[in-house]
Amino acid sequence: MIATALEILKTVYGYDAFRGPQARIVAHVIGGDNAFVLMPTGGGKSLCYQIPAIARPGMGLVVSPLLALMADQVAALRQAGVRAAALNSDLPADERRALWRDIHGGSLDLLYVAPETLLRQAVLERLGQTRLSLIAIDEAHCLSQWGHDFRPSYRQLDALVGLFPDTPRMALTATADEPTRAEILSHLDIAETDAFIAGFDRPNIRYTIEEKDNPRAQLKDFLKRHKGESGIVYCLSKRKTEETAAWLRDQGYDALAYHAGMDRAAREANQMRFQHGEAVVMVATIAFGMGIDKPDVRFVAHIDLPGSIEAYYQETGRAGRDGLPSDALMLYGYEDIALRSRFIEQSDTPDPRKRMERQKLDALLGLAETAGCRRQVLLSYFGDDCEPCGNCDTCAEPPRLFDGTIAAQKALSCVYRTGERFGQAYIVDVLLGVENDRIAQFGHNRVSTFGIGTEHDNRTWRAILRQLIALRLVDVDLAGHGGLSITPAGRDFLRDKPTLMLRVPAAPRARRQKVARS
Ligand code: ADP
Ligand code: ZN
Repeated sequence: MIATALEILKTVYGYDAFRGPQARIVAHVIGGDNAFVLMPTGGGKSLCYQIPAIARPGMGLVVSPLLALMADQVAALRQAGVRAAALNSDLPADERRALWRDIHGGSLDLLYVAPETLLRQAVLERLGQTRLSLIAIDEAHCLSQWGHDFRPSYRQLDALVGLFPDTPRMALTATADEPTRAEILSHLDIAETDAFIAGFDRPNIRYTIEEKDNPRAQLKDFLKRHKGESGIVYCLSKRKTEETAAWLRDQGYDALAYHAGMDRAAREANQMRFQHGEAVVMVATIAFGMGIDKPDVRFVAHIDLPGSIEAYYQETGRAGRDGLPSDALMLYGYEDIALRSRFIEQSDTPDPRKRMERQKLDALLGLAETAGCRRQVLLSYFGDDCEPCGNCDTCAEPPRLFDGTIAAQKALSCVYRTGERFGQAYIVDVLLGVENDRIAQFGHNRVSTFGIGTEHDNRTWRAILRQLIALRLVDVDLAGHGGLSITPAGRDFLRDKPTLMLRVPAAPRARRQKVARS
């Protein structure tokens, strides 16, 4: 009798139910279809190929990049009574011969192999004489040339498509961004309709994104709500982590710094204090992350803009591993956007890569400026989705919108009239008709847009410009000087003047509370 997927789940793994999309994926592959599986680490990808391999006739071939990972998986499977083995190049000759006998004799459910070994002519030929139930390519993002884990041998796995055209192919990864995903699908010839993406939601994390107005006051206010709890404050620079930690200690917090410039012993000591402490605030650069294994991190604050949505997701994801309510705050302002843009422009990466980095920054700004549910924007970036969550700042207090068509036209005209090379603060001053030396020096107190924006205050204009950047009507810093310029879409907007709804900037939290109290 052929066991059903659910029976295998219960008898082999001892679990009662599939999690998330596992059941759908397993059924899909048992039915003979290809699958692309995108799930965060720990989401349960292994079952998605192991169960179909056990259920289908033939042997499942699993391509995995690391010998150590393979050894762990094989040991765990054997323990559970599954006939699994790893084919690696340093097996002694007699074990190797015995393994091939098992393979050809049809007595294996799963064979793990590294791509370099698999792609040897002799290995491929011998596997060609074997009945395969499926081919699973784990850590499939290793085939992406843009990724950090690029492995040239992974790239050659596309040969399998032609060699085993009738065997279901699976690609599995936790690395989510859209270009990588598209590259994997096209390279392994897996259809968009065979993609399964889920498990990214962290419902216990509450997301809040605020304009960086007075960052120290905002941070202090945030930490007040987390007295006696541990959390992480991320900063961009080493110096800022030191300064912020010192300042927090002055405020009575048990705050520590962590960055790559500290010597190893000091770093490890701080990590230990954080790990075992009760109410420790770790003020860190992104160097702090690997190996944090603290279930009760109650908050993560970004007082500078993170590098991308993936980075934000990963960094905020260190909060609330225990499933209890946790808080994520991000502060961001125009300076952050200009700085990030400058990083990208001035790096010596090739142009296609720069374009991709810019797209990632744009996506992050889209999250920061959305009037909709933050969680929906975050999950949709990973191809996952949810209902409006009720557990983010925009759900709790939906931003008010106004017809910003005229304001956008004024702002764009002002960027244009001043030569598309000045930053946000300057443009806002010209719109408000501020008389200062710099504006006089450039003669911009005589342009037609000088003082045409007095109906809004400085704060609103800044919010308008940020939204125009997030909407890709305005570009920051293409030449590396922090200046704003008009994009082709911005030119279309000036010509067609479609209605544009913009969000009214929220009042700073501190002020809101005062208003509420009075
Ligand atoms: P990934 O490969 O996506 O990082 P794993 O496949 O290693 O994740 O699974 C992560 C953990 O979740 C493992 O301990 C696994 O046994 C467990 N797990 C997976 N699926 C289920 C399930 N349906 N029910 C309970 N536990 C599960
Ligand atoms: Zn929400």
